[in-house]
Amino acid sequence: INYGLKKTVYDTEVGMKYGGQPLWHHIECFVQLRSELGWFESGDCVPGFKGLKKDDQNTVLKLLPAIDAGSACNIKKVKIEPGVKIEEEIMNRQIENQSKRLFKFRDLVVNQMHKKDIIYLLEYNNQKPANGDSERMLNQLADMLTFGSLLPCPQCNSCEILFSKSGYLCNGQLTEWTKCSNILKDPERKPCKVPKTLKEKYAFLSEIRNKTEHRIVKYNPPSIAFVSNNTNGKMENEPTKPKVKRETPPLYNLKFAYVGPKEAENNLKTKLSKLGGEIISKLSENIIAVFSSKHEVQNMGSRMKKAKELGIHIIPIDYVDLVESNPTNAINYISSTTLCDWGTDPNSRIVQEEANTKKSKSIYTKSVAKSMTLKIKDGSAVDPESGLQDVAHVYLDKNCKYSVVLGLADIQRNKNSYYKLQLLESDSKNKRK
Ligand SMILES: [Zn+2]
Ligand SMILES: [Zn+2]
Repeated sequence: INYGLKKTVYDTEVGMKYGGQPLWHHIECFVQLRSELGWFESGDCVPGFKGLKKDDQNTVLKLLPAIDAGSACNIKKVKIEPGVKIEEEIMNRQIENQSKRLFKFRDLVVNQMHKKDIIYLLEYNNQKPANGDSERMLNQLADMLTFGSLLPCPQCNSCEILFSKSGYLCNGQLTEWTKCSNILKDPERKPCKVPKTLKEKYAFLSEIRNKTEHRIVKYNPPSIAFVSNNTNGKMENEPTKPKVKRETPPLYNLKFAYVGPKEAENNLKTKLSKLGGEIISKLSENIIAVFSSKHEVQNMGSRMKKAKELGIHIIPIDYVDLVESNPTNAINYISSTTLCDWGTDPNSRIVQEEANTKKSKSIYTKSVAKSMTLKIKDGSAVDPESGLQDVAHVYLDKNCKYSVVLGLADIQRNKNSYYKLQLLESDSKNKRK
């Protein structure tokens, strides 16, 4: 059958706003959806039925017998996969409609508006103009004109929130050292306001609606088939799917240790493995943190002593729950939940790991030898970058180590920068470097 059925629907988002939206369905799809669309008459009541060929009329009658609304639930059970496809079809159409309006505004802005007016209009609506690429600022303004202005990020209060494929990405700073990277699927908005002077200058700005609209975000997580294709290096097999980078779990490849009663360990192992981390029994400098309790820290058993010697943080079991609820802060939580008064910066422990796996080299990424043994003397390691690890140790004054790491971790962008400052004392003479 090479024809479709049209049904005007009022219950979609677009339909509600514009008083009905015509949607076409294949006859098979229509049959699956008829109860939802509210069509209970028999096939010969379909508008245009008389104009069909005899064969087609019979097919329509066979596929669309009259039903009463009460038995409509039986029909619903038939709807399995095709129904999902139709919902997707409807969503695609809404997205298409939204981007049509967005690009109309974007074109008008590109062709008519001066940059200083673009910035003025954004700031007038309390939006921080996106810096860098001017395309980003154009997208930001077009989004604001189409859907309304965005309220500040609830996590960091930043007003630089930009649309991306998976949602609205906050570009603010959580702390001086950490990017916010909050992703909002449905950010709060205010209607966009246009100052009078700009309305007089640019006629199209008078068309801006005094209301907000939800921008549909369609994010397709990679299918299993796609991921396996991807790992085989055959990306071109699925050209229609967005090329989504497979996300690594927050504690991917990180090794932890555990000190405490055996009973609690298995539960912890399970939770941890879901986040990508693992428990190693041997305490070594590869361990990023040790799960334990305040009680064990006070007891100071032999394994606890060893952890202290290696400068490894002791963290509570519920660290895993924190990471689960806020994965981007995984590494920072180690320092903030620590139960002990020792511990080197956990960021400096993963830097080496990441550098090893990094294949592309830029001048900003220093290459690090594949395996690196840190020499431990008096509980702290001399950074091998100094080349002095064989002849010097970190200066120690009344149990205070002269070694400090300033770290800036941006997990979203897979960046981890740090400065390491150490005061080294020669092993042989008292020559300081
Ligand atoms: Zn269809
Ligand atoms: Zn934020």
